[in-house]
Amino acid sequence: MTDTPQDNDKLHIIDDGDVESISTHEPWPILVVDDDSEVHAATRLALARTTILGRPLELVHALSARETMAILQKRRDFAAVLLDVVMETETAGLQLVKEIRETFGMAECRIILRTGQPGSAPEIAVFTDYDINDYCTKSELTRTRLITALMAALRSYQQIRTIAENRRGLELIVRAVPGLMESHAINTFAEGALAQIAALLKIPPDGIVCAQKGSPLETGEKSGLYVVAAAGRLSGCAATPLEKIGSSAIIEAITHALTNHDHVFGEHFTVLFLRGGNQEAAVYLETGAPISKDDRQLVEVLAANITACFANVKYVEKLNFIAYHDTLTRLGNRSLFTLQLETAMQMAGSSCAIPMAVALVDIDHFSDINNGLGQEVGNGLLTAVAARLHIQFGKECQIARIGADVFGILGPEKQVNPTRLQALFEQHFSVGEHQLPVTVTMGFAIPKAGAGGGNTLLKQASIALNRAKRAHNANYTFFEGEMEDDTRWRLEIIRHLRRDFTAQKLAVWYQPQISLSTGKIAGMEALLRWPGETGFVQPPSVFIPLAEYSGLIVDIGDWVLQTAADAYRSLAHLPNRPHHVSVNVSMPQFKSGNLTERVAAILGEHMLPPSVLELEITESIALDQPRHVISCLRDLRDLGVRIAIDDFGTGYSSLGQLKALPIDCLKIDQSFVAEISSGRGGMFAETIVALGQKLGLETIAEGVETAEQAGFLRGLGCSDAQGYYYAKPMPLHELITWLENWQSR
Ligand code: C2E
Ligand code: CA
Ligand code: CA
Repeated sequence: MTDTPQDNDKLHIIDDGDVESISTHEPWPILVVDDDSEVHAATRLALARTTILGRPLELVHALSARETMAILQKRRDFAAVLLDVVMETETAGLQLVKEIRETFGMAECRIILRTGQPGSAPEIAVFTDYDINDYCTKSELTRTRLITALMAALRSYQQIRTIAENRRGLELIVRAVPGLMESHAINTFAEGALAQIAALLKIPPDGIVCAQKGSPLETGEKSGLYVVAAAGRLSGCAATPLEKIGSSAIIEAITHALTNHDHVFGEHFTVLFLRGGNQEAAVYLETGAPISKDDRQLVEVLAANITACFANVKYVEKLNFIAYHDTLTRLGNRSLFTLQLETAMQMAGSSCAIPMAVALVDIDHFSDINNGLGQEVGNGLLTAVAARLHIQFGKECQIARIGADVFGILGPEKQVNPTRLQALFEQHFSVGEHQLPVTVTMGFAIPKAGAGGGNTLLKQASIALNRAKRAHNANYTFFEGEMEDDTRWRLEIIRHLRRDFTAQKLAVWYQPQISLSTGKIAGMEALLRWPGETGFVQPPSVFIPLAEYSGLIVDIGDWVLQTAADAYRSLAHLPNRPHHVSVNVSMPQFKSGNLTERVAAILGEHMLPPSVLELEITESIALDQPRHVISCLRDLRDLGVRIAIDDFGTGYSSLGQLKALPIDCLKIDQSFVAEISSGRGGMFAETIVALGQKLGLETIAEGVETAEQAGFLRGLGCSDAQGYYYAKPMPLHELITWLENWQSR
């Protein structure tokens, strides 16, 4: 091996550039295979103290194909192999190439074939089939030639490695995306992202992910950065506010990324900036050393992909949140509560379980507040109640909004009990400018082992709540086994009512209404009765709500209208017949859509002028779904029918709303009439009469039982009165006799 001047020149140029003499970098592992030990010695000499592409060389020597095989069994990290073709056999080297590529799967390793004889070059196919880098005869291999050949091989090796690394990274990214997509919660997603980035960089996951705190529905100010995932040395930081993690350097790096909306590549760390929807996050990773340019690019690609997933996760999380939460109060919803009850039922069996209770809290007359003071006030009240429940019970109990105005509370019995809950509603709730007194009705149930799942427990509490709502003397009830029969009982009543209605067994009775100023008959109210074999089957206060609930009231109400019209018609011959007949109308009748048509038809069939019919609707009907109801009322009014608001004063109608309603009369609720003689002075009755006068409406007092009440109301200027003082409701034939005998008082 003789150096030519030309070769030395080349070497010189190389020395100046890529070949450095000193390096601390990891060496290139190079396998030298030759059956001639002199070749090994010469190669060692030629390559001594040589560095290529900034790295020294590590030569590993093998004297035969067999020895090579043994080495490759142990290590395969060779960047290049200098391979003698002819060894044990003529083609031992070529055989080895096959083994290297196929058996040992060393696809990236570069191979330089060396042969003693110029004529023994392998077939061209071998080069392409086995990806051989270079081929030269040993005589050609000067030091310079050897180094340039190696340099080309190593450069090629490095490129192949980079490409392979990138592909591995991209594959990892491609695989990471669906994996991350599956995590539906931001913290599992964040953990996944952290692990994927670390895997890409081939370092242990050692870092944190920060995002804004709060539910995914929260928008607004970007404060409250929280550690949503943490791994490695920082794993203790999970769920802490960023400012509490105790490293100003990390805080600064993360803040920098979030402020500049960009990744930060530091000396020992990397911060990736992620944005999805209107949520931002930063992944902080301890890398120990600066990450290479290639890795940076890969990480940026991964970050872009993660960002895409992140938006998705935020979306899914939002959907999940909505699925299990009430968006108004941010409390859990019925679905979540049922799951929590399910757990409570499962726990109930274990010996260490503390005694638990579930309460359903229903706000009394909520629809009146909502309709009367507006939905905004209604929502405000619900939010205020939710907040108060949360302050009182949030620590130990699960709170949910499980219906429009029904809250569920699950927790230890010593917390979830009537006394504690009752106390919560002693103070008024302030909503806007309103101070709202709120009363509630509650149903309680106790989770018992083996008594079914969460749904059963919820049903038990609902049954107790319904029982409490119907009770007159208590505003709460605990579920008891026999109450389930109660539900069956009510279904039975509905069935029975339908049967008797079809069999025309229902009746309408009438109660006179007297003009307070003249003492003459003013009108009469039609009141439904359900007669049975012995007395009444059920009072209207029991069966009418059930008829409403089942929808049966639409047909029954239509029949009451016909019957009342018929009855009124039959009074035509009486000199003091009432000016009108009042008929009660329920919400389902308004919802049926053809109430006006039915009323017009019935009046037509009975040849009655519309002015003889008065429809009584409750305050909540008048204020519920205002647009639909008001247009219906307006049509009825246009027809000439009178409209009265029943039980007036028990709702929350505002003056503005009253003005907007097409009505003729306010019917003062019996409770205010009862107050007149109970020493409380009848202040409400007085206010209602004054209100009526201001709005140009008539007023009628119901439940008038005494002369004192009648006198008081007359003094106020109340138009009419109805009550036992004058007459109880009675069948038509009795009414006729009663009317014939009526002397004005
Ligand atoms: P309402 O419309 O407020 O009817 C007045 C109720 O007070 C009637 O009870 C009547 O019998 C009772 N009452 C009348 N005068 C006095 C009195 O001086 N003292 C006392 N303590 N009570 C008096 P009733 O007939 O049991 O009806 C109860 C409720 O059932 C009615 O309350 C009404 O909301 C509903 N209702 C009755 N008939 C019908 C109907 O045909 N259709 C609809 N949708 N509801 C009806
Ligand atoms: Ca009525
Ligand atoms: Ca009434």
